[in-house]
Amino acid sequence: MALPNIFVLTGAGVSAESGLSTFRDKDGLWTQYPLEEVASIQGYERNPGRVLAFYNLRRSKLFEAKPNAAHFALAQLEAAWAARGAIITLCTQNIDNLHEQGGSKRPIHMHGELSKSRCHDCGDVRIADGDLLLTLGCMACGRIGGLRPHVVWFGETPLFLDEIYDALSTADLFVSIGTSGAVYPAAGFVSMAREAGVSTMEINLEPSENADAFDSAHYGKASEAVPAWVAEMIALAH
Ligand code: NAD
Ligand code: ZN
Repeated sequence: MALPNIFVLTGAGVSAESGLSTFRDKDGLWTQYPLEEVASIQGYERNPGRVLAFYNLRRSKLFEAKPNAAHFALAQLEAAWAARGAIITLCTQNIDNLHEQGGSKRPIHMHGELSKSRCHDCGDVRIADGDLLLTLGCMACGRIGGLRPHVVWFGETPLFLDEIYDALSTADLFVSIGTSGAVYPAAGFVSMAREAGVSTMEINLEPSENADAFDSAHYGKASEAVPAWVAEMIALAH
């Protein structure tokens, strides 16, 4: 049997049980910092030090976090599909690296990566595991003070959109995991998939804002619902 090509989109809910806050958590990091000040270019230009401090805190929380059963299950699905020459595209809105830590080979980070810096001046992107500080210089252009986290802020265009749209429109199944469906363009992937004739399913703690757009849904914790779905898919493949 030919296996379906699957496009998986993940959001903050997949990392919640690893101890990283979602944006909607009542006492999450986001309630302590005004969103428009720490996740926009205008906020960065007003107060770069505050923005760097916010992401330094998020990066230190990431160092304490471990992948959970949902990350591991997605990597297992990816390996099973790769062994049969079938395609899984894993696209994440998360800037953490828990999919990689869980064994996924090349997740597409459409909103960037916390473990990389980007130079505001020359655009150089490179691995940056430590704190970003205004006193640091860019390794490429040498300018001091211009390093920012390599993350996509409100008002900026997500990364890899052409690759994402190609993979989405040629998939057989679109699965959205742990995302509220509130932020575009990712929230629009389900409609694009439907228009391209792709089946759609969501796995989330509760119905997302665009729950009606999905053909089917499993509601529950990612650490339970994702491994259960992956086990079903792998059983079908045998
Ligand atoms: P989100 O916080 O908006 O939604 C998380 C979703 O995960 C919710 O639907 C929640 O029900 C679900 N969830 C929580 N715990 C779960 C668990 N254990 N198992 C399964 N599901 C669980 O996050 P998002 O959808 O990833 O946000 C999308 C993008 O929006 C982010 O990448 C970020 O760039 C941007 N953003 C959003 C907000 C916001 O207020 N929505 C704020 C800042 C940035
Ligand atoms: Zn530079």
